[in-house]
Amino acid sequence: MLKEREERHLVYDYLRPKKKFPNVWCAGCGIGIVMGAIIRAVDGLGLAKDDVAMISGIGCSGRMPVYLDFNTMHTTHGRALAFATGLKMVRPDMKVLVVMGDGDALAIGGNHFIHAARRNIGVTAIVINNSTYGMTGGQYSPTTPIGALATTALYGNVEQPFPIGELAAAAGAAYVARSTVYHVTELERYIADGIQKKGFALIEAVSYCHTTFGRLNKLGGAVDMMRALKDNSITLAAAEKLEPNERAGRIVRGVLVNRDIPEYTDLYRQVIERAQSAQTATEAEGAKSRTPRSL
Ligand code: SF4
Repeated sequence: MLKEREERHLVYDYLRPKKKFPNVWCAGCGIGIVMGAIIRAVDGLGLAKDDVAMISGIGCSGRMPVYLDFNTMHTTHGRALAFATGLKMVRPDMKVLVVMGDGDALAIGGNHFIHAARRNIGVTAIVINNSTYGMTGGQYSPTTPIGALATTALYGNVEQPFPIGELAAAAGAAYVARSTVYHVTELERYIADGIQKKGFALIEAVSYCHTTFGRLNKLGGAVDMMRALKDNSITLAAAEKLEPNERAGRIVRGVLVNRDIPEYTDLYRQVIERAQSAQTATEAEGAKSRTPRSL
């Protein structure tokens, strides 16, 4: 499989290598791993590139649509899901992928996030969670662990981190899964499943930022932080056998939610149909009342 993919240069089918490279990401960053997983997921599903849209906000992960040869929009900070909602409303046939970082998705974009999940609109949101604002220098984000250092928390962060997956699940998403950039085949599978799911799909891709968060917290380089993802994560099935205190601080990987609930653009289309029927009935009634009585 891998050999077959290498032979046909799969990645180059989906990138804009001549126009947009080299990329801005630090060597060793996990964002490129997520991009590779998305490419393989889309390719594996056999989707035409023209049927896929990728939308991002601002931040290191926000650069991803610049490099990919889909229909793309690199939008404003925190607003990727708002743009995606608009696109999905007018093109419900399209596969709309939204790539965000944790700061982008859950701080300035937090309301868009919970309401997109609540509406269950059929977009696939991929949140690359590296616990920091990487591009702007390592400020603490809504997922920075308590006690961790940040350039805006030099004596330790005192805010509770958002559990991204659980937040999306509680808000009403149809599909929620979490994996890491170390577990890349699992991540690819979750992204593919999310794209196929009817409704709002949230895939949390736990990653790292070795150049800001890692350096400040003395966590080593990219390889060390990648190894920590492997060592600190457990499957959902394993986590369910542990006491809450034993689960604390672990990354729990797996499918948190997979449910069939009405999708927003479907419901909205039904509203339009009902409104059109009502309008037609009103017009028919009006025409009837204007018809002169027969002599
Ligand atoms: Fe990745 Fe951090 Fe570099 Fe951004 S700053 S590209 S998140 S390593």
